Amino acid sequence: MFSYYIVGSIYNFLLSEEKMDASKTANMISSFAWNYISEDNMSVAENFDEFLGTLMLDEKYRVMIINKDSLAIFDSHGNDAIIGKAQIKQSVITALGGEEGNDTYEDELTGYDVIDVSVPIKAPQGIVGAVNATVTSDKIGIFVGAVKDELILLSVLSCLLIGLVIFVVANLMTRRIIKFTEKITLMSDGILDEKMDIRGNDEIARMGVAFNTMAEKLAGIEQQRIQFVSDASHELKTPLSSIKLMSDSIIQNPDIPKEQIHEFLSDINNEVDRLNRIINKLLSITKMDTETEKVENNFELLDLREVVSDIIKTLYPLAKNSEIALNFTADKEIYILGDKDTLFQAIYNICDNAIKYTKRYGEVNVILDKKDLEAHIVVRDNGVGMRTEDTEHIFERFYRVDKARARETGGTGLGLAIANAAVKAHKGSIQVFSEPNIGSEFTIILPLAEKNA
Ligand code: ADP
Repeated sequence: MFSYYIVGSIYNFLLSEEKMDASKTANMISSFAWNYISEDNMSVAENFDEFLGTLMLDEKYRVMIINKDSLAIFDSHGNDAIIGKAQIKQSVITALGGEEGNDTYEDELTGYDVIDVSVPIKAPQGIVGAVNATVTSDKIGIFVGAVKDELILLSVLSCLLIGLVIFVVANLMTRRIIKFTEKITLMSDGILDEKMDIRGNDEIARMGVAFNTMAEKLAGIEQQRIQFVSDASHELKTPLSSIKLMSDSIIQNPDIPKEQIHEFLSDINNEVDRLNRIINKLLSITKMDTETEKVENNFELLDLREVVSDIIKTLYPLAKNSEIALNFTADKEIYILGDKDTLFQAIYNICDNAIKYTKRYGEVNVILDKKDLEAHIVVRDNGVGMRTEDTEHIFERFYRVDKARARETGGTGLGLAIANAAVKAHKGSIQVFSEPNIGSEFTIILPLAEKNA
């Protein structure tokens, strides 16, 4: 379509140029022609041909002189048959009326357009006839036809080329998407170590990078899950093994003294309590992992001073048992938005640890403070402390610095994991500083409610 439009414009332009040339030629002839027309207006002078020769006209022009009665009296093509015949043409009629006339029509024989221009011949006594110049646009036609053929060929070729390029590019893209789909299918079948090959920097490459990041994260989560199941099974297995051992020995030794049976049963009872503790903690971790939204729905305005002072009251007997001084300082009320039970559990676990991991006659200080837009609950002890290698892991599930000691204290390695999950559910964080044999400082940071501001 574009080619047709361009070709049409070129043709019209060339045709109008040709028309202007024809008009110039006709005007030039007409300005002298009246001298050559005989008095009876029926012929031109013998030397008219000579005069035309001096103008050195292009051969493409056919010039006719028409008298004022519309009869041809001269034809540069020398066709005597038309001399004396009427030339009733649109352009001639206009010219004899005193105006320049022009017309374009199709030559019936060749099919080319013919440009037809007529100009009046003005003598001192008035209009004595008209010069009619015609020119066939065959050269323009042939030229434009050739251009048209080439443009069409070019259009077809470029369409083919564009089609080919689109086909190749689309194919390359779909091939990468097909590969991508294959990898995703593999992943959904549980094969998580699949990676996309990243080539280039386009959308698909970026999608590949995002995919690889997601795959890595999923693999990490899967690894954690496997580790968790294995750790949990192991933790549950230990008390079960002791229970099994003790019950077996009661069953297999009918002569076992009554006091020993009682001792075994009390140990079994302790192990059952321990199993119960582990299972309850596991349930509360799972709850926080899977029901973060539910925890958020229970948020209410809480005065942290009340929550912490309840915890201190609960832990007081435990501290007293070990002759540990348990101090609580809070200047004023500090409001936050939170779930009371979840927060209680988190702060309780950290304070409980401070008492558990502090020697007799030690000291535990709990300080409640506001800083910027945050509430800070600092729990500081002068107990056994930890090395940095340990503080990096204490929030992991089942991590205990000293497994043997943990059994004595009834530790499960889940307390801090629960505290961490609970604080995260409140958009807070926990910081730890600790030094072996000097003590530890845990700081729980929570966003303040607007009521404080
Ligand atoms: P546990 O039930 O064993 O106390 P936690 O998750 O509460 O488990 O704590 C993980 C480990 O971090 C503990 O086994 C202990 O070794 C260490 N820990 C926690 N709090 C303290 C503290 N205040 N002082 C020294 N060690 C601590």
